Amino acid sequence: MSETLRLSAPVAPGGTIGILGGGQLGRMLALAAARLGLKVCIYSDDADAPAFQVAAHHRVGRYDDEAALAAFASACDAVTFEFENVPGATAAFLATHVPVNPSPHALAVSQDRWDEKNFVAKLGLKTPPFATVLSHDEAKAAFAKIGGPAVLKTRRMGYDGKGQAKVFSAEDTIHAFDRFHGAPCILEGFVDFEFEASVVAARGIDGTFAAYDPPENVHEHHILRRSTVPSRLSQAQSEEAQIIVQRIADAFDYVGVLAVELFVTRDGALLINEIAPRVHNSGHWTLEACAVSQFEQHIRAVACWPLGDASRHSDAVMENIIGEEANDWEALAARGGALHLYGKTDPRPGRKMGHITWVRERE
Ligand code: AMP
Repeated sequence: MSETLRLSAPVAPGGTIGILGGGQLGRMLALAAARLGLKVCIYSDDADAPAFQVAAHHRVGRYDDEAALAAFASACDAVTFEFENVPGATAAFLATHVPVNPSPHALAVSQDRWDEKNFVAKLGLKTPPFATVLSHDEAKAAFAKIGGPAVLKTRRMGYDGKGQAKVFSAEDTIHAFDRFHGAPCILEGFVDFEFEASVVAARGIDGTFAAYDPPENVHEHHILRRSTVPSRLSQAQSEEAQIIVQRIADAFDYVGVLAVELFVTRDGALLINEIAPRVHNSGHWTLEACAVSQFEQHIRAVACWPLGDASRHSDAVMENIIGEEANDWEALAARGGALHLYGKTDPRPGRKMGHITWVRERE
């Protein structure tokens, strides 16, 4: 395979940023790009992808269709992605045709919970205790090592609580492993956290770094419901969170926005739950409460522009609109905040349909 390409000069206004994936993150990236005078070309396997509605160009194709991907690459000056389950081979193939950021390596590590946890553990960063589970014997051994309660998670393709089971015994762990059809898993200690937080940050091609204030996040049924800034993190903890994400970004030689989800324990420790190599739901409030949003920041980074000002000028609360809640759009529009609806037609249970952000003067 030929070499991975790197951008050597900024993509000038009028140029085209390719985005793999056409969900709400791609949609908000497209809107941010348009404001900078850049066009986007969205590539999705879904003919009805919500991001198509706001993109200058789009293509419908399978993620393993090399001819379609090569044609897409030739229409773009730089390529990025908006969901982390982009097949690794797709990103690696594209990277031989056009600069792709974040790198296929960062994508590959974040796609696999075992690789991801080992990566951050090697950097000396803290995670919940974890162990590999590839067989019944390992399920038993892992539970003996971690103890209960614990969470069995499939290594790949898990999000919003999918591919996760809370377990209380070795037998439970074996049953859950069977329910996941023997897919490679990790067992993690269940963290009795005080609250959850995340830190969203950007790293530029020249290594410059800008982190947002870490929000506090509340999940319902494993899906993010609400992000609030400022969080309950102390100043020292906020700084620690920003150092954690910077260490990870530097170790990947990362370009773009990334998010690190954290458990804040009752004794004040920050444990890494997972890395998202992309813009993140817990950063949507940056659209209204920061000088430069996570979406603009990501486009700047992947287009090789200088990063913008990530400082927060307002306090903010962001709430997701999930499933059928979106049907009541008139009531939502009357709730006073900045309303974002993603243009999705099918309000399936658990589907993120939009969000609202309320801002007020910074305290
Ligand atoms: P994940 O898909 O790993 O981000 O998990 C989704 C949500 O499940 C997290 O945001 C937590 O609320 C919960 N969760 C996941 N792993 C753990 C854990 N080890 N201990 C406690 N809660 C967890």
